[in-house]
Amino acid sequence: MHHNNHCLLCGSSRFRLIHKRGQWTYLRCRRCGLVRLDPMPSPEELRQSYHTYLPDSENEVEKWEAMMRPVVVKSARIIEAESPPGRLLDIGSGYGFFLKEMKQRGWEVEGIEISETGRQYAKAKIGVNIHAGQLESLSLPRDSFDAVTLFYVIEHLSDPLSTMKEVNRILKPGGLALVRWPHSTPIVRLTGPLSKRFDLYHSPYHLYDFSPLTMTMLLEGAHFEAIKTLVGGYTLPDIRINRWCSIITGILAERICLMSRGRILIPGVSKTTIAQKIELTS
Ligand SMILES: [Zn+2]
Repeated sequence: MHHNNHCLLCGSSRFRLIHKRGQWTYLRCRRCGLVRLDPMPSPEELRQSYHTYLPDSENEVEKWEAMMRPVVVKSARIIEAESPPGRLLDIGSGYGFFLKEMKQRGWEVEGIEISETGRQYAKAKIGVNIHAGQLESLSLPRDSFDAVTLFYVIEHLSDPLSTMKEVNRILKPGGLALVRWPHSTPIVRLTGPLSKRFDLYHSPYHLYDFSPLTMTMLLEGAHFEAIKTLVGGYTLPDIRINRWCSIITGILAERICLMSRGRILIPGVSKTTIAQKIELTS
């Protein structure tokens, strides 16, 4: 475990404690608002904890696939609105739900997955190449993908900035990154002490919690442009409260949504951010 003294995004050393669960605390940067776990588990501690992260009964995998289905379909449509079929890499591909969808839509797909269970499953079910290990250690060729996706991965990374820089490097100029991320801090702040019971940060698994602003800062720092944060495939200003309730799965979200008559979840559900690798004009 180690302590970071400076904010990854803005360099500030002033933080406020916003959440505590056992030995883990969550600190919010006073300047940019980035939330992070403190102390951070070491890479070795993280590797250990992911060996048992994915469920492995067939029944549970099917339930998970059904729950992810709307996200998979909406994300596929978002990508297809921006790019014709090409080469796609899904980082943290899990059981390959998204790879399966994109392969059916004519994309040439591959994945990266740390869990052996996930890799075996995806290889057997959809017959695609899944790399083991981490993006940074694979040294994939530069300018080689039309799209790179990360579903519920960015919040787990010890250095999301260097990962997104590597994503940028392997994308073709004009290529698209799609990042799906939980936005838990507004709910944690609104539910106060209750949030301890819900464990929204899934401590110690979520190392960071982003907001639309800090996600934009992260992607700008990794040399992306045309950064847009969407919810369920709709842009933020178009969202109506009733849609919010319907796109959320899970008892907690539903309960808070009902309790607050739809008001509270507005800032606090998963977001999708898309961004383009800067296209050089020369
Ligand atoms: Zn900061």
